[in-house]
Amino acid sequence: MTTRTRFGVDENGYYGYFGGAYIPEILHKCVKELQESYLKIMESAEFRKEFAMLLADFAGRPSPLFFAERMSRKYECRLYLKREDLNHTGAHKINNAIGQILIARKMGKTRIIAETGAGQHGVATATVCALMGMPCVVYMGKTDVERQQPNVKRMQMLGAEVVPVTSGNMTLKDATNEAIRDWCCHPSDTFYVIGSTVGPHPYPDMVARLQSVISSEIKSQLLAKEGRDYPDYLIACVGGGSNAAGTIYHYIDDERVKIILAEAGGEGILSGRSAATIHLGKAGIIHGARTLVIQDENGQIEEPYSISAGLDYPGIGPMHANLAVRHRAEVYAVTDSEALDGAFELTRTEGIIPALESAHALGVLKKANLKPDSVVVLTVSGRGDKDMDTYIREMNNY
Ligand SMILES: *Cc1c(COP(=O)(O)O)cnc(C)c1O
Repeated sequence: MTTRTRFGVDENGYYGYFGGAYIPEILHKCVKELQESYLKIMESAEFRKEFAMLLADFAGRPSPLFFAERMSRKYECRLYLKREDLNHTGAHKINNAIGQILIARKMGKTRIIAETGAGQHGVATATVCALMGMPCVVYMGKTDVERQQPNVKRMQMLGAEVVPVTSGNMTLKDATNEAIRDWCCHPSDTFYVIGSTVGPHPYPDMVARLQSVISSEIKSQLLAKEGRDYPDYLIACVGGGSNAAGTIYHYIDDERVKIILAEAGGEGILSGRSAATIHLGKAGIIHGARTLVIQDENGQIEEPYSISAGLDYPGIGPMHANLAVRHRAEVYAVTDSEALDGAFELTRTEGIIPALESAHALGVLKKANLKPDSVVVLTVSGRGDKDMDTYIREMNNY
């Protein structure tokens, strides 16, 4: 049943050296139950039908593949933008939230928990819980609760309970620990919705499959527009890796397609203030998986920094760690200021205000040596409404 590919997951949940499920004993049964059921559920006709209907009629898919004519001229390529910013709730995260909550329902789970940093995953999860009439608890570091008030209010309006976490640095890592603690206490009725291609097996693979709708749409849209169903380059930003995983999923073993990932360089990879996990991380365990982790010499996880709240995660999906070390993907660290340049350029050239996360993917265009006239698909993972405070502060520089 598993489709084995060179860069896909193996039956034990590994991508080469990375992945696996490193979890407390008490969660063993629930994780095993999920490992044994997720593919069966996802491949059932009933799930596929419901998922496809909700992606179309609730999330608004397919998202357009837009030919960016003026940017193409500037970068001497044929640049297409995959418009995940046009989805309901403003980003690709809704694809995953719909899928996981449908899986939870099929498994008989009645209570949803999630963790969130910037609040985007929390909002997507709370949205789908409202739709399906399920109780939803979202763990969020107290620092993040204070700096992401509009998303906190959105989740509350949708009926979710937002629990501020006061341990550690009071950010995403601490919220995740608290969500795992909750899951340990309620293993039989609760489903933990993880927002990216991270966490213990099967989460990275499950999330990648749910997001793979992005690359299956790219295939048919490119075929219609270019007469071939593959690009020369795919470009996406990586926090945990879910929009990138969705973008590359159906091309992962197709060597004609070059994969370029953009991680958050913050103030520069040598500045001590960045979230460039692939450049700076060492193998370690985070959130139940072996992957690259930004850590000090004692193995303590370091607090990452990026101008974009959705990319400041100290780990990276195991799939992406493997793609990077095996040189299947080329990875750029894009700094805050390069991302801002990209955001203002897209806004003024194509009339699209991107999320700050997506702006990191745009920052690659100036750094990568793209072959002239090549076909490039760049995923705009989300819209910039949530980042207007930052953009307004920067406006005078542009
Ligand atoms: C959360 C988020 C990201 C980062 O998450 P991935 O799992 O790496 O995709 C990127 N873009 C937007 C708009 C986000 O909300």
